[in-house]
Amino acid sequence: MNVLKFGGTSVGSPARIEHVADLIEKDGKNITVLSAMAGTTNSLVEISEYLYKGNIPGAQETINALEAKYYKVLDELFADADPGTARQAVVRTFALLRSYCAEPLTDAGEKEILAQGELLSTAMMHRLLTLRGRKVVLLPALDFMRTLPGGEPDMKHISTRLRRLLELEPDADIFLTQGYICRNDHGGIDNLKRGGSDYTASIIGAVIEADEIQIWTDIDGMHNNDPRFVDDTRPVSRLHFEEAAELAYFGAKILHPACVLPAKLHNIPVRLLNTMQPDAPGTLICNTAPDGTLKAIAAKDNITAIKIKSGRMLLAYGFLHKVFETFENHRTSIDMIATSEVGVTLTIDDTSRLAAIVDDLKHFGTVTVDEDMVIICIVGDLEWHNTGFEAKALAALADIPVRMISYGGSNYNISVLVRASDKVRALRELSKHLF
Ligand code: ADP
Ligand code: ASP
Ligand code: MG
Repeated sequence: MNVLKFGGTSVGSPARIEHVADLIEKDGKNITVLSAMAGTTNSLVEISEYLYKGNIPGAQETINALEAKYYKVLDELFADADPGTARQAVVRTFALLRSYCAEPLTDAGEKEILAQGELLSTAMMHRLLTLRGRKVVLLPALDFMRTLPGGEPDMKHISTRLRRLLELEPDADIFLTQGYICRNDHGGIDNLKRGGSDYTASIIGAVIEADEIQIWTDIDGMHNNDPRFVDDTRPVSRLHFEEAAELAYFGAKILHPACVLPAKLHNIPVRLLNTMQPDAPGTLICNTAPDGTLKAIAAKDNITAIKIKSGRMLLAYGFLHKVFETFENHRTSIDMIATSEVGVTLTIDDTSRLAAIVDDLKHFGTVTVDEDMVIICIVGDLEWHNTGFEAKALAALADIPVRMISYGGSNYNISVLVRASDKVRALRELSKHLF
């Protein structure tokens, strides 16, 4: 059985929802994971922000606009049929959103508001496929998707609950569920962070040992550079799990960074496919990929570099330990590292504890901070015996000031740190020289 995940643009209009229904029907028995319609989660975030600020008219206006959009979708999608349960879901959601206008918003309330987009899209798809005569079973994600105290998925719980739900419906043609939403360890409604529907699909695929996890989106696979900034990018036909993980983590928005791991651990192939061009081959991510080639480039924004220079590092031990411990104490993860005999530079993307980190690091040396940086990540078969790739990558960046370089940490990447203002130029130069 395959797990199919359709993103926000794929279900972004009545016509697209109909088209996705065709693709779901074509696949045979499967589990389909849906995102919210494009724009919905952003509107829900906006509503929460207005409510947090006590701007009730602002929240009401956004709720009204979103509600009007959904009634229009219902009218078009069910023009000749009774919208039934889909309409009930829309009524329920907007009554709930309005009820939040009457009380101060809490964290739990915000999470419930953010969950509405996926609940609506699955309710509409369920009704549509049912009207088409399919035996569709709606599996509420809130009944089986749960996280542990640290936010990691509770795989044992998910596996037990999901398997039981599937066993109850042996005759189903299609199982349908919500991406992104889950319950936390207290049982409260929560989510897997923005873009998290990919992660839902991967977790489900791993738990049921799926034949394949298919991520259907608005582009024909992982491209060799970021198509939002570079022209003439091309899809990569095959990627190793490790390569895909690096690209997702370092900014290739097509995949949620956490989504590679469950698939990799259970060795379930992940295929990236285009809803608008279903016959395009897309990208296959698995345990084997062509060797000896560079595959793709990605960029991660909002990076801060911190340099710690120690007069006493020469032949000293324990310096790096103290530096790393500081970041651990502040629960801040490090992306890139470069060391020399007299100092070390590290990068972070979460700056919420920056001032305190810098304060603590000053015990060990002189600290300098560079903000507004970007990590450019070049991914491919970069095993160290292969010659030439590092030289080519750096030659491409000959005219761009490079703050830091990291190579050899894995067999799959070289990372360079540049100023945010040089990002697009760096991406374009790399494409020009490497592909
Ligand atoms: P969905 O809503 O289906 O989850 P996303 O917007 O999250 O879709 O991801 C698809 C988008 O990712 C594409 O439209 C594209 O602009 C962007 N993207 C960024 N880097 C890449 C890349 N290397 N290859 C393909 N798409 C990329
Ligand atoms: N709807 C959520 C978001 O917009 C989750 C997703 O689309 O993957 O982030
Ligand atoms: Mg996405």
